[in-house]
Amino acid sequence: MLIGAMNHPAHDVLQEIEWIAAMGLGFIDLTLEPPMAASWKVDPVAIRRALERHRLAVVGHTAYYLPIASGIEEIRRAALEELRRCVDVFAAIGARWMNIHPDRHAPMHDRAFFVHKNLATLQELLPYATERGIGLMVENLPGDFNTACQLGELLDPLPELGLHLDIGHANLLVVHSTVDEFLRTYGARLCHVHLHDNKGGSADLHLPLGTGSVDVRGAVRGLKSVGYDGTITLEVFTPDRHHLAYSRDSLQRIWSEEQAHSADR
Ligand SMILES: [Zn+2]
Repeated sequence: MLIGAMNHPAHDVLQEIEWIAAMGLGFIDLTLEPPMAASWKVDPVAIRRALERHRLAVVGHTAYYLPIASGIEEIRRAALEELRRCVDVFAAIGARWMNIHPDRHAPMHDRAFFVHKNLATLQELLPYATERGIGLMVENLPGDFNTACQLGELLDPLPELGLHLDIGHANLLVVHSTVDEFLRTYGARLCHVHLHDNKGGSADLHLPLGTGSVDVRGAVRGLKSVGYDGTITLEVFTPDRHHLAYSRDSLQRIWSEEQAHSADR
């Protein structure tokens, strides 16, 4: 298992790589978003060199607000174009996976419409990404894509699509966390994990681990039950990095304890 962190899109990417490496993390969850980390602005050669120098791995992340299901076709096509540019950058940097956030902002349209448009964008992007050695994965989001059944509307028709499980999101706008149902249904397709805390409800607080109601130990057990041993990004968005360091140590400890328990069993 590898623990990583995300760059702040308003800061210089190369400087972000420096502190992530200095914290002893294993990878960067590189989000390509303006103003400072825009796909058209970053230098893939310099980033690749910096990652190699620090022996950091990389997972691709794209802007969460791209209108890939827009009811205005020209805008949907522009979002697809931006995702193609992200694929190019990630291929040049040496990433293997790139995440996509399903879009549900199509006012006055029903669910079937935006599911269909998300699928259309993914279908068009998949061959482009595959040719460049990049796999695509979709992230669960509170509201419209936060149960196995809802995200399944994208995962089932596209078997090459991976699951990117956000454990914090799975705790929002639900009666019970949907982590277990995601793992039960799509555990074999799990490619990447986001982990952060919140207090349920609708507020996506991105708190340090252990400060909200997310069952971190339960989630770790779930990940282990499907044999997951990959990348976990601590999406802890507080300005004080001690909170991130604490979350890193906490995850490491729980992971090792659960490892020992499963060896005992
Ligand atoms: Zn996330």
